[in-house]
Amino acid sequence: MRNYRKNIGLKRHVLVVDDELINREILGNLLKADYEVHFAEDGQQALDILRARDHIYSLILLDLLMPVMDGFQLLSILKEDDRLRSVPVIVMTSEKDAEVRSIKMGASDFITKPYDMPEVILARCERIIELQEDKSIIHAAEKDHLTGLYTRDFFTEYIRQIESYKPERKMDVMVLNVDHFHLINELYGREQGDQVLICIANTLSRLFERLQGIGCRPSADYFYMYCENGTDYEALFRTLKEDLNSKLPSANVRLRLGVYQDVDKSLTPENWIDRAQAACDRIRGDYSRHTEYYSNEFYEKTKYQEKLINDIDGAIAAKDLIVYYQPKYDITGDRPALRSAEALIRWKHPELGMISPGDFIPLFENNGLIQKLDRYVWQEAAQQVASWKKNFGVSVPVSVNVSRMDIYDPKLRDDFKSLLDRYHLETRELMLEITESAYADNADQLVNVTEELRSDGFMIEMDDFGSGYSSLNMLTSIPLDALKMDMKFIRNMQKDEKSMKLVELVMDIAKFLQVPVIAEGVETEEQLKLLKARGCDIIQGYYFSRPVPPEEFTKFIS
Ligand code: C2E
Ligand code: CA
Ligand code: CA
Repeated sequence: MRNYRKNIGLKRHVLVVDDELINREILGNLLKADYEVHFAEDGQQALDILRARDHIYSLILLDLLMPVMDGFQLLSILKEDDRLRSVPVIVMTSEKDAEVRSIKMGASDFITKPYDMPEVILARCERIIELQEDKSIIHAAEKDHLTGLYTRDFFTEYIRQIESYKPERKMDVMVLNVDHFHLINELYGREQGDQVLICIANTLSRLFERLQGIGCRPSADYFYMYCENGTDYEALFRTLKEDLNSKLPSANVRLRLGVYQDVDKSLTPENWIDRAQAACDRIRGDYSRHTEYYSNEFYEKTKYQEKLINDIDGAIAAKDLIVYYQPKYDITGDRPALRSAEALIRWKHPELGMISPGDFIPLFENNGLIQKLDRYVWQEAAQQVASWKKNFGVSVPVSVNVSRMDIYDPKLRDDFKSLLDRYHLETRELMLEITESAYADNADQLVNVTEELRSDGFMIEMDDFGSGYSSLNMLTSIPLDALKMDMKFIRNMQKDEKSMKLVELVMDIAKFLQVPVIAEGVETEEQLKLLKARGCDIIQGYYFSRPVPPEEFTKFIS
């Protein structure tokens, strides 16, 4: 800022206001090397000059005793003038009393007459100009041009300052987002978009005093607010909507609020914003809610999940992950006969205790760790089949779960092959369960991969059948060897007619595809009888056994 003038040969303008010619000449000579100097003989003349060309003067040097309009009068007029208020004034006087009075009236500094130390005068002028320019730079960085709210850096800095004065006060942080703001810009134009942002900022600004808060606009369609704990956010939301509807009835604006209440003072303002932001993110795309609160429960869950992710490698190494087996019985004959088993993972965590797969499988499916875990289970299962074969002389095939991610792994077939080689198993001894919903995202690739696996000799069971979206048309092209009916049909089939009809429908589809039906989640004899009567082939469920550790499973074999 300071250098650009020098670079382009611009001098700052200084206005000298004095009724005595000799004083004007002395100051003019003193300043002319560094500044472009203009002159006025009284307050009124000065005011006319200033008003004719506002914004160009960097400094006014003002005599106090003048005819027409004296220095004090001019000072009080400048103070009330929005555009001229920011021009700094140095008062020139020989009276001590006048100094105090003029500083109180808004002068920045004073120079005593007579002018006996030119270098002091020059230094003072320079310093006052610099101070004023710094102040306006700060002002520009402090406020967002469009809305007049603070910028992010100043917002967090002011929070720190407020906190240092009142650390004991309970405070909240809110993050507000305009959903699909770019659409408003595209549909109605940028102008309208700006109006939306201004309207929101105005509403917030109006509320700050009552909520004891401050706010900022850190980026295009985001607003942050820091305010006293106990704020009614539902009411705040309603006020924002009402203002938007009355000022901009055509723009259909959807807002999302994330609130972190009673912020943890041991964390930083940035952390508080992150938490409010996390709450705000959580309801993205959820049109049933507009406000979400950051909760400890939410925080605990995130922390818990992070811990699981961190611990997975150690758990595999320490064998804290244990594979349980649940028997599947063939019920087509007179007496149920053990046919195979499903491998189901359990995590015996040294600190957290037994963790069910429902808590970590979906988490690992989201971040890719599932592949590591699945491979661990496959190898444990293969080893187990081999060991039963050796100890009991019978083969109990085990089905393992194959996740959607595994399907896209080009090494999948080779990995299975080397696993079988290693434990001298037939492909029939390791069956693969693939959930129906996996077929939904990339049916072609899935069909290719399963076709190859089947040509290698693997049996493919479509898991959770009925929960996904397979079309009848697609089913005929998917290579599979069994349908595993989704558990909820069985849970509900005695309660409502529709579920029973769906069970029958699944049987019909299986008959049409010429594959057996496996019913899982069978808990009672009655369920078993109903299913048997409708032609179900294989049963898995608590009726026969829960998933059990391998040592316990031996009782089903012997
Ligand atoms: P799934 O593959 O559909 O497994 C069947 C689930 O039903 C198992 O829950 C089993 O314990 C439970 N179950 C079996 N019989 C009954 C019954 O009669 N009543 C009730 N209420 N439940 C029964 P689990 O072991 O908690 O596994 C849940 C899910 O976690 C599995 O659903 C599967 O999707 C996933 N999972 C488990 N182990 C693995 C694994 O090694 N790899 C992968 N990718 N996923 C796994
Ligand atoms: Ca399964
Ligand atoms: Ca299942």
